Amino acid sequence: MAARKLDGVACAAIIREEVAPRVAAFAARHGRPPGLGVVLAGENAASEIYVRNKLKTVAAAGCRAELFRLEGGASVAEALGLVRRLNADETIDGILVQSPLPAGMGPTAEQQVFDAVDPEKDVDGFHPYNVGVLVQKRPALVACTPLGCIELLERENVQIAGRHAVVIGRSDIVGKPMALLLMHRDATVTVCHSRTVDLPAMARTADILVAALGRAAFVTADFIKPGATVIDVGINTLTSEADVARLFPEDHRKRIQFAAKGSVLVGDVHPDVEAVAGALTPVPGGVGPLTIAMVLRNTVTAAERRAAGRAASGG
Ligand code: NDP
Repeated sequence: MAARKLDGVACAAIIREEVAPRVAAFAARHGRPPGLGVVLAGENAASEIYVRNKLKTVAAAGCRAELFRLEGGASVAEALGLVRRLNADETIDGILVQSPLPAGMGPTAEQQVFDAVDPEKDVDGFHPYNVGVLVQKRPALVACTPLGCIELLERENVQIAGRHAVVIGRSDIVGKPMALLLMHRDATVTVCHSRTVDLPAMARTADILVAALGRAAFVTADFIKPGATVIDVGINTLTSEADVARLFPEDHRKRIQFAAKGSVLVGDVHPDVEAVAGALTPVPGGVGPLTIAMVLRNTVTAAERRAAGRAASGG
């Protein structure tokens, strides 16, 4: 039997509706909408699409959403200068620095720039302060992708408490916060990575499996306990006809998309998993829309928290 589809598009639409009155109330009370500043450095086709979608969604909700570009050859000092300017701008409530920064900025650039974002404006939840309070289960702003995965699970009534959750991937932006959020909801959590021994056997023990490795169709049906819930975080672009032909039968819509566009998006989960899993997120249309909805919600949350903080301090 085919897995139940966990519909990220529908879930994100509901979240946007929920956020709308908060945006209107903030604007009425403070004489301006919540503001998001997005920093985009260099030229990266995927980043352009992600940033455009985030700005579009946040603006459509009635917020101010502004793009701040840096040239590909910009220095870390210039990126830090821009972030400090946004930190000081009272009309900007949320700051998002699109990853990856250009390689030319050096290997420590992302850490330096993310660390420079005011934690109160850190809508990506990457700042060490926000990571720390997440570990202590008193989060303020939580990384958007794992937060979106939790929203989807909860709104689709997937039981988390008492279940065994396996997260494949231990990155700071997806795997680690995902594991913490699941643990805080009383799942028993196992985190797997590239050095995990017998990954398929480990994955097969999962009631909830989160695939966040960045390897196209890597998680095959033999990774899945029958009936498990599978969250596919991966976004991979296939440009080889042979790869697409290997994964999808001739009449599959992905083959038709590939023929039309010359590329196709696939997750980290193999299409055959659909026959074994109990519930599954599609790619696209699963985790991606939730990530963007969480950027919007975090922007509004940051605006509200900053305003409440100013009121409490008499400002
Ligand atoms: P990273 O590359 O930062 O991390 C990948 C993780 O997967 C690492 O922990 C790595 O292990 C692990 N891994 C890689 N290969 C294997 C393997 N063969 N077996 C087991 N573990 C493996 O990626 P991100 O966390 O940033 O992103 C993961 C995926 O999610 C990507 O496809 C990305 O595009 C997508 N993504 C999607 C978003 C959305 O909105 N839907 C948002 C953000 C990301 P190790 O630590 O040992 O190297």
